[in-house]
Amino acid sequence: MRRWNGWGETEIDYPVPDTASRYLESLIGVGEVVPDATLETALAQAPASRLPENPAYTTAALNRLHHARGQSLPDWIALRHGQIGAFPDGVAYPQTVPEVAELLRLAQQKHICLIPYGGGTSVLGHINPLAGERPVLTIDMRRMNHLLSLDKKNHLAKFEAGASGPEVEASLSAQGYTLGHFPQSFEYSTLGGWVATRSSGQQSHLYGRIEDLFLGGRLETFYGTMELPPFPDSAAGPDLRQLVLGGEGRIGILTQATVRVRPRPVFERYAAAFFPTWEHGLEALRRAAQERIPMGMLRLSDATETETTLILSGKKRLVGAARGLLNAAGYRTERCLLVYAIAGETRTAQQSLSRLKSLLVACRGLLVGQWIGKMWKKNQFRTPYMRNTLWELGYALDTIETATTWEQAPVLAARVQAAICATMEEQNQQALAFTHVSHIYETGANVYTTFIFPRAADPAATLERWQAIKRAASLVIVKEGGTISHQHGVGVDHAPYLSYEKSAVGMKMLAVLHECMDPDDLMNPGKLI
Ligand SMILES: Cc1cc2nc3c(=O)[nH]c(=O)nc-3n(C[C@H](O)[C@H](O)[C@H](O)COP(=O)(O)OP(=O)(O)OC[C@H]3O[C@@H](n4cnc5c(N)ncnc54)[C@H](O)[C@@H]3O)c2cc1C
Repeated sequence: MRRWNGWGETEIDYPVPDTASRYLESLIGVGEVVPDATLETALAQAPASRLPENPAYTTAALNRLHHARGQSLPDWIALRHGQIGAFPDGVAYPQTVPEVAELLRLAQQKHICLIPYGGGTSVLGHINPLAGERPVLTIDMRRMNHLLSLDKKNHLAKFEAGASGPEVEASLSAQGYTLGHFPQSFEYSTLGGWVATRSSGQQSHLYGRIEDLFLGGRLETFYGTMELPPFPDSAAGPDLRQLVLGGEGRIGILTQATVRVRPRPVFERYAAAFFPTWEHGLEALRRAAQERIPMGMLRLSDATETETTLILSGKKRLVGAARGLLNAAGYRTERCLLVYAIAGETRTAQQSLSRLKSLLVACRGLLVGQWIGKMWKKNQFRTPYMRNTLWELGYALDTIETATTWEQAPVLAARVQAAICATMEEQNQQALAFTHVSHIYETGANVYTTFIFPRAADPAATLERWQAIKRAASLVIVKEGGTISHQHGVGVDHAPYLSYEKSAVGMKMLAVLHECMDPDDLMNPGKLI
């Protein structure tokens, strides 16, 4: 069963070793451990629904609670402390396109706000109803989760948009194919959610981001259906897919998506290397991207993330031995870990692997075989569960991410981390911040920073700490040449920073489009724009 107030399945835990809690305590002190609110307490807060009874949706409090919040840190604070805020007034679970169209008609007639909902894994407040006068109906798309067709000759698969990661891959892999889209939220996030937030998966360097995979689909809007044919490519004016990608449920509901698929790779190798410094690792990745070596997943951790990963692994003896060997080889306090994968057809993948290995060695990479890579693969979707454990130890964990040029990537990483730590110091608190790069391009890379800070006893104080950090780090990003989001989207939390990169004219274009498609501002109000 899925946790209602945290990440993942209730039967799965991610224990951290005592050494890890001692490590955190020595760096950032101890957080306040306040018991979680019970489900009953949270449910008791559900106000009476403002929607009339209708068989098209439910107004049951439990369903409304399950759709009230996503996975951002403010969401966690709200859920764990039982201070939910606004609830949707109802939840619909359509199973067909006409049912979705009917819900749109109903919303327009009765002035009901609609929130399209995929897996609810948004980390930016995308699916949260905002307080207001008008009733809110969440449209949960997860019953529309089927593979509609697989065209093997043309490598095209058409899905209903509510299919989750495991559903997409299970139906394709049964026929020898893969989409290759593996965000860390894979267990729950959906194809529609990926498209609506411009998601990037862990293997996106090989398979492409969702915008490279999403070729067409069907969008239900207040003006009817928009069909996007899956052409191989087209020069017929502006590409309307780009309005759906990153649309965040503001102009319509994606009911079907046609995506590019590939035969499943026969060769897959996960491995790791250490570099003497992060700069050495970044240089290796820049060259790999510019020499177009088709890596699968990759993750280059900075020195702090490397050390933290080794400590959190709990493999004390193994890590101790590895440390000794690395020190002896001259890879000391600034050492950085790169975990990578190469996948594909055996001969070409092996060629890529040998090109990559030569390049890593040329950049002073120390190849350490497959065990760390295999461990990464095993825990691929498990690490988010650690957030539950850390919360229970009194710590809040969140991430902030951007993309920028190769030149600016280390600068931005250092400044974002400095802004996070300085913000906490102003409040006489400490934060631990570390960064990795996991998506690379010829022109630059993403910069993904994780931060951990002690929780306060008062949820409002924990929220204030987070707000101050988020503001400071976001301003550093937008003022220093980064995008406000490389992969998580905009939602509520990034909306104040969008104009920095879209310009006043760009913001006007978005607003005009939205006003035209949704004059009553019913579609996911308060998000994105
Ligand atoms: C632990 C964790 C790890 C994550 N890792 C990654 C990662 O590796 N890469 C990454 O890109 N993101 C990641 N995310 C963020 C999140 O998973 C993505 O933004 C994901 O794409 C959201 O998909 P979803 O189905 O859960 O959408 P939801 O959270 O339900 O919705 C997100 C937005 O999409 C809209 N939407 C959803 N479905 C539709 C539809 N059918 N039609 C129109 N609009 C729709 C919603 O209205 C909302 O605005 C992570 C999140 C968590 C909690």
